[in-house]
Amino acid sequence: MAATPAHPVYRGRIAPSPTGYLHLGHARTFWIAQERARQHSGTLILRNEDLDDARCKPEFVAAMFEDLKWFGFEWSEGPDCGGPHAPYNQSERTGHYRAAFERLKAGGFIYPCTCSRKDISQSATAPHAEDGEPVYPGTCRNKVSTVLSLQPPAQVNWRFRVYDGEAIEFVDGHFGAQRFVAGNDFGDFPIWRHDGIPSYQLAVVADDASMGITEVVRGADLLLSTARQLLLYRALGFAPPAFHHCPLVRDENGERLAKRHDALSLRALRGLGKSADELRKTD
Ligand code: GLU
Repeated sequence: MAATPAHPVYRGRIAPSPTGYLHLGHARTFWIAQERARQHSGTLILRNEDLDDARCKPEFVAAMFEDLKWFGFEWSEGPDCGGPHAPYNQSERTGHYRAAFERLKAGGFIYPCTCSRKDISQSATAPHAEDGEPVYPGTCRNKVSTVLSLQPPAQVNWRFRVYDGEAIEFVDGHFGAQRFVAGNDFGDFPIWRHDGIPSYQLAVVADDASMGITEVVRGADLLLSTARQLLLYRALGFAPPAFHHCPLVRDENGERLAKRHDALSLRALRGLGKSADELRKTD
C-alpha cells in the first residue's frame, strides 16, 4: 500500500489577468504565493485569467510572461513552462465553467436577472460593497421567469442568490478571522454575463477546485470575494482551499496600485534600471 503523506500536497497558483501591464503590487503578491509554495515543497501553477476578451489583449499576455520571468517566477504548471498541458488559459475552459453553471442552475442557486447596470445603480437601496460592486437590491429574485429554460448566452445576466443576514466566516492566513454578512456586505452576485462570459467568481472557483489548489494567495482587495466564493464552494459541493490575502502595495498618495499606474509597472521600473532583486525587497 502506498504511504499516505503526512501533509496533503500543497498546490498554489498565481492568476494574473492580461488587461494591462503587471505592476509591483502583482509581483509582490505573486512572490508571496511562490514563496509559500516553496516553503511547502509544493507546486505553483500559472493561470491566465483572460476571460474578458474586450479587455484582455495579446500584447499584455506576452508582456505578462516576460515580466514574470524577469522578476524570477518559476511555475511548473501552466502556459510557457514546459509542464503539463491542460488548458490554463481561462478562455479555453468555457465548457468547464458551463458545467459548474448547469450544476448551480439545477440546484436552484441562481436566477436570471434582466436589470441593467443603470437600473441597479439607480435603485435607492443599492449601496456599494467595499469592493465597488453594487449590493444588488434583489429586483429579479422572485420573478417567475420565462427564461429559466434558456441556455446561456441568453441575453440576461445570471445571479447567485445569497441568504440575507447569513454570516460568512473564515480565517485568513494573513489577516486572521474574517466575517462578512450576505445582503449587507454583498448581494446576489453575477455568475454568467448576458454576453456569454462566465463571471470571475464562477470561473475562479471552478478552476481552483478542478486544479486542486490547496491555498489561494492573492491581494487583500479580494477578501470580500472570498466570502462570495465560499458560498459557491458550498453550493457546488467542493471543499474550499485555505486563503491567504496579502496587503496591497500603495503609491506615494496611499492609493492602491492599479494597472493605470504605468510608472510602477514592472517594465517601467526595469526601464529605469531597477533590478528584480531590489524590487522583491518589501522595505
Ligand atoms: N485574475 C484576478 C486579478 O488579476 C485574480 C484572481 C484571484 O487571484 O483569485 O485580479
